[in-house]
Amino acid sequence: MQSFQQYIDGVFDDGSGRFDSVDPATGNAWASMPEAREDDVDRAVKAAERALWTGAWATMTASARGKLLYKLADLVQLNAPRLAELETRDTGKIIRETSAQIAYVADYYRYYAGLADKIEGSTLAIDKAEMDVWTRREPVGVVAAIVPWNSQLFLSAVKIGPALAAGCTMVVKASEDGPAPMLEFARLVDEAGFPKGVLNIITGFGPSCGNALTRHPSVAHIAFTGGPVTAAHVVRNSAENLASTSLELGGKSPFIVFADADLESAANAQVAGIFAATGQSCVAGSRLIVERSVKDDFISLLKVKAEAIRIGTPLDMATEVGPLCTRRQRDHVEQIVSASVNAGAKVVTGGRALEGDGFYYLPTILDCDGVDSPSMENELFGPVLSVVSFANEDEAVALANDTRFGLASGVFTQNLTRAHRMVKRIRAGIVWINTYRAVSPIAPFGGYGQSGHGREGGLAAALDFTRTKTVWLRTS
Ligand code: NAD
Repeated sequence: MQSFQQYIDGVFDDGSGRFDSVDPATGNAWASMPEAREDDVDRAVKAAERALWTGAWATMTASARGKLLYKLADLVQLNAPRLAELETRDTGKIIRETSAQIAYVADYYRYYAGLADKIEGSTLAIDKAEMDVWTRREPVGVVAAIVPWNSQLFLSAVKIGPALAAGCTMVVKASEDGPAPMLEFARLVDEAGFPKGVLNIITGFGPSCGNALTRHPSVAHIAFTGGPVTAAHVVRNSAENLASTSLELGGKSPFIVFADADLESAANAQVAGIFAATGQSCVAGSRLIVERSVKDDFISLLKVKAEAIRIGTPLDMATEVGPLCTRRQRDHVEQIVSASVNAGAKVVTGGRALEGDGFYYLPTILDCDGVDSPSMENELFGPVLSVVSFANEDEAVALANDTRFGLASGVFTQNLTRAHRMVKRIRAGIVWINTYRAVSPIAPFGGYGQSGHGREGGLAAALDFTRTKTVWLRTS
């Protein structure tokens, strides 16, 4: 078995506890992980607090911080094959996807490296001749970052990049489900030469490690990605210390196809939009809302494409869909699909787990027209597409907004006037028109409603890790 360590105050250690990580492709333990308990969390937060106020980081110029982030980006790029392999091994996310994603993880670090020395205060033209007044942007303090198992290197980069650019220090808690890539990433943080305590990387269980981290009195801001139920708990913890929060949560994203759309291209986007990452993506286009006149044709296209998907071992470059990350996750998908079928949803394809080793579930399409299907309402975080149809634009909008979530959405139509109307009417943080899942470090990302608050990506994300200090100087 491989063995991993946690990284606190510039030192690697085994953690107060240990737990085994399971290979989702086989269901067998493959690596031993450090479990951070309350003492480890406290050490990590205190190290981050010391680094914030004393030592090299506290007095480092913004451009020097940027240079360290550039170095980290280069190391991520250089070590991409190893990081991708570990992420695939520990989470089951296929190697094609982990390899592709790491390329843009490095881009995110470069983007924020470049922003470090562009975070500015301002001078204020107040109505007093004897005073000069200006503002400074200062780091918000110690940031706790918590990420779920899917895309950890990416979901942490969108927090670490802006927070370090802003001068904060951090404790990052990797998910207990598949922490290997983050613990390996800690080696690159060390190699890049960040002063000790600036970026601490631990893993452990939510109710113990995550709970202790989010209740810690020295944490000033919590950047959380995960499910809404956990988020509510995190916010309650943050209230004890009045820490601020940014929350990137779940989704039940509508994928709307009008009859005039290029159906072939929409079908390709839909298949990738729901089955990539085996559906374990917060922006998965999991509710297809299709114009009734093309519903049958569109479903036929999707069925052929879904059944042609190569399911296999995640480390094989030819594999297109791999296993779910955990047995718990596969059981959750099975349970909601079976409740949906009992409610009247029709299985177009898939609808069952694969027999044998590993946590595989077939790419699944459920026709939910006229059915009150649990699969339309709940986030499955699995390869399951639920389909309903509409007769007109108002009905499409009503169906799209019939959710407590509001993360992403897709609109497929050749009528751009209608596309603009849809942009205004859909309640979600992202609208993709005739495309799906595009991301960029420059573009803000985040949700409405139960999909959370705060935005990752772009300049504003770096400013969110600062607070403003106002300075008054009497000049005469
Ligand atoms: P989760 O909420 O169970 O866990 C997420 C993280 O929170 C893990 O690191 C976990 O250990 C930690 N945690 C659990 N209990 C905690 C507690 N009591 N206190 C503090 N931390 C605790 O989520 P999950 O099931 O691992 O991940 C799937 C969820 O993440 C889905 O809802 C998905 O949509 C969401 N997600 C959102 C985005 C986004 O950017 N909006 C991206 C990816 C995933």
